[in-house]
Amino acid sequence: MVDILPTQSQQWHAVELAMREQFYRAGFQEIRTPLLEVTDLFLRSIGEATDVVGKEMYTFSDRGNRSCTLRPEGTASVVRAVLEHGLLNQGQQRLWYSGPMFRYERPQSGRQRQFHQIGVECLGMDSPLSDVEVISVAWDLLKSLGLKDLVLELNTLGTQEDRLTYRKQLIEWLQDRFELLDSDSKKRVEINPLRILDSKDPNTQALLLDAPTLGNFLCNESSERFTAVQLALKALEIPFKINPRLVRGLDYYCHTAFEITSSQLGSQATVCGGGRYDGLVRELGGTSTSGIGWAIGMERLMMLLGDSMSGGSSPDVYLVNRGDEAEKKALVLARRLRGERLAVQLDSSGGSFGKQFKRADRCGASWAIVIGDNEARSGQLRLKSLHRDRDSSNANEFIVPDSDWDILLTYLRS
Ligand code: ATP
Ligand code: MG
Repeated sequence: MVDILPTQSQQWHAVELAMREQFYRAGFQEIRTPLLEVTDLFLRSIGEATDVVGKEMYTFSDRGNRSCTLRPEGTASVVRAVLEHGLLNQGQQRLWYSGPMFRYERPQSGRQRQFHQIGVECLGMDSPLSDVEVISVAWDLLKSLGLKDLVLELNTLGTQEDRLTYRKQLIEWLQDRFELLDSDSKKRVEINPLRILDSKDPNTQALLLDAPTLGNFLCNESSERFTAVQLALKALEIPFKINPRLVRGLDYYCHTAFEITSSQLGSQATVCGGGRYDGLVRELGGTSTSGIGWAIGMERLMMLLGDSMSGGSSPDVYLVNRGDEAEKKALVLARRLRGERLAVQLDSSGGSFGKQFKRADRCGASWAIVIGDNEARSGQLRLKSLHRDRDSSNANEFIVPDSDWDILLTYLRS
């Protein structure tokens, strides 16, 4: 679990703001759910045969002896909340969420035990075009942040029946090659064979190149759907690559599955993963309703962005002050200026003017206001423009009576 430090949080803010604007424009509304859920929610939705439920959840008994789990992902909680509050009675839901998720994984670059996701969930949207709309929101969002080298990988998981037929064939094929599999995959052959397709072991990956693929087991409806999705992506000029081995880690997915990856991320290459989950609402006790969504891993996104969006905001004013009276006046002035919506850094070191000016420069403030004993006594403020780009031949120091609020604000806003 990692701390997000002040040097990084500015970039987080910038990214979150860009995302909120994008969601607003695309007609999504935010939903916030608790971090803690009853464990059963994840057993029912994600499925016990998955890594997430099988070995990654933070589960404990609370004081009332209920089994609770820190959410490992957002979809189950969103669907639970939607059902609990009857939101589907009001029609389709286009929702977004963000926040920390918890998985007990082996920490490494791009993989943490507390990480953050921003995601969307659309409920009640059926058509292949809605898959493409949802994918395009993710794609455009990442593009608008300036990311390059993104690849959209696409697959279809078909219907549950498609998967059952395929599953049988795959198990047979895997059993014939059992000794060649890595130890994790060996354990999965019976309980979650599709997940083996997603194995990160290079030998297993090489072996699987010849494995039967789900594409050959699709019913007509599934393959028509998949074709429609591809055509619509082409119409939007969103490039994609079909990856027949792409499966989502969670059990409830069907039809469209996709990931957005970047070659710059090393072995944890996926920045966004999502797909359709038409069975989930019913699984959680609602009437059969289609669903599609995705989640972006924020830490991986930050790795891709480097510090390209960390431009950060500098204060409008740095308040240099020294001496008993001056310090009192500065405190009052800082508060009044903040009330005028100016960003003010008040130096509270009591240190020398020289040191305070250095800090004023370093923080990138546009103006320094100086109050020393003289200014405090005479009721004046000394203003110093710190604008770097201002013509140096112009005067850059001004004396303003501290009673003349209008003039002061005019300077500070210039
Ligand atoms: P992976 O195959 O990388 O484990 P996943 O299939 O488990 O991913 P999802 O559950 O689909 O991932 O989550 C969506 C996104 O959340 C991932 O693409 C990734 O960007 C991010 N993510 C998932 N797990 C972690 C983690 N432990 N640490 C950081 N980011 C993560
Ligand atoms: Mg995972």
